[in-house]
Amino acid sequence: MQAESLNASFAHMATGLIHHPYTPPAGFEAPQPGVFKASTVYFPTVADMRQREWKDKSAYTYGLHGTPTTYLLEERLCSLEGGLQCVLVPSGLAALALVALAVLKTGDEVLIPDNAYGPNKALADGELRHFGITHRFYDPMDPQDLARQITDRTRLVWLEAPGSVSMEFPDLPEMVRLCRARGVLCALDNTWGAGLAFKPFDLLGDGAGAQGSLSVDISAHALTKYPSGGGDVLMGSVITRDAALHLKIKLCHMRLGLGVAANDAETVLRSLPSIDLRYRAHDQTARALAAWWQSQPQCAQLLHPAFEGAPGHVHWQALCDRVPGTGLAAGLFSVMIDARYSQAQVDAFCDGLKLFRIGYSWGGPVSLVVPYDIAAMRQAWPAHLQRGTLVRFSMGLESAQDLILDLHQAVQTHLPMT
Ligand SMILES: *Cc1c(COP(=O)(O)O)cnc(C)c1O
Repeated sequence: MQAESLNASFAHMATGLIHHPYTPPAGFEAPQPGVFKASTVYFPTVADMRQREWKDKSAYTYGLHGTPTTYLLEERLCSLEGGLQCVLVPSGLAALALVALAVLKTGDEVLIPDNAYGPNKALADGELRHFGITHRFYDPMDPQDLARQITDRTRLVWLEAPGSVSMEFPDLPEMVRLCRARGVLCALDNTWGAGLAFKPFDLLGDGAGAQGSLSVDISAHALTKYPSGGGDVLMGSVITRDAALHLKIKLCHMRLGLGVAANDAETVLRSLPSIDLRYRAHDQTARALAAWWQSQPQCAQLLHPAFEGAPGHVHWQALCDRVPGTGLAAGLFSVMIDARYSQAQVDAFCDGLKLFRIGYSWGGPVSLVVPYDIAAMRQAWPAHLQRGTLVRFSMGLESAQDLILDLHQAVQTHLPMT
């Protein structure tokens, strides 16, 4: 119906503007999908309302239960990671929390790698504990330590490859095998790999989802990082390949009232087509800068899993670099600055960088730097880490040459060789 018919339809304009008869023609196609915003979703009849099902994505019932925009993003993320089902949550940390709340109950224990993303440890200590769910930390570089710590009460094992900040790459397939053998659920924080460096549901590379292929049960991903790519969205996903496990997570998600905003989903949908290109660019820049650091006497240890000598390098090679020289790594590495430099000097070095900004997170266009206090983060100082002050660098999309010049000037000024 065209515009002139409006006046005839309703006595009052307010009603006419709300119940407007015009519908645009179908058949619109463009590179980006439409953005559907809703709390309320209409049903044509009460009977239709009663019979619609949201759990299997066959229809729409309420904004919180999914819109075309969120369904689309979920399906594309499943393709990225090789999963079958996905739920979206408001942050990466919410993804970790949702997994814990969905699968753990009073009396259960969760095992967490000692180098895990810090807030996951804080979640266990600050929240799960109050529900009578205990946690212990295992040595991510020693699968036998994980094997020893699994008990009858262990319900969930968290995996992270590599560990946040100190970047050790674990023997992921071996740890998943251990969990399988003991019948314990394993969930991977897949933010670093992002579905690109390795396939979490096909760890041996023998066919995604094939019977017998080695797979984590759950992949949690901070979409805030590479899928967003802009440093401007917070979102997370929980991906599975098991309908019953997914339903458990989805029901918990619904009961907790978790959802994501349509505009945020749109932003991630807009960035997703370039994720492969961006990931490779961040990777190349990180390796150029890491190589530069290796030749600097101020660097006591380079922590980048694709570099010879870095903790867990052989495990990165086995999982990510099956055809040698083709493996991918995220654009993120840490440097242990030699112990002869004080914390104040290292802080001044970070402050003295001009292109690198000081800030958390990664995966956006701007390079970031953060010094970390490893002693405060770990149970004990890990034997495979040199003593010193750890600084983590995350690559933006600036030129590697310009970033190296920036590092050079800040090192010269603040970390003198005397
Ligand atoms: C950033 C990050 C998270 C949390 O993501 P947010 O969206 O910031 O909550 C979880 N795990 C890892 C490894 C991360 O880097």
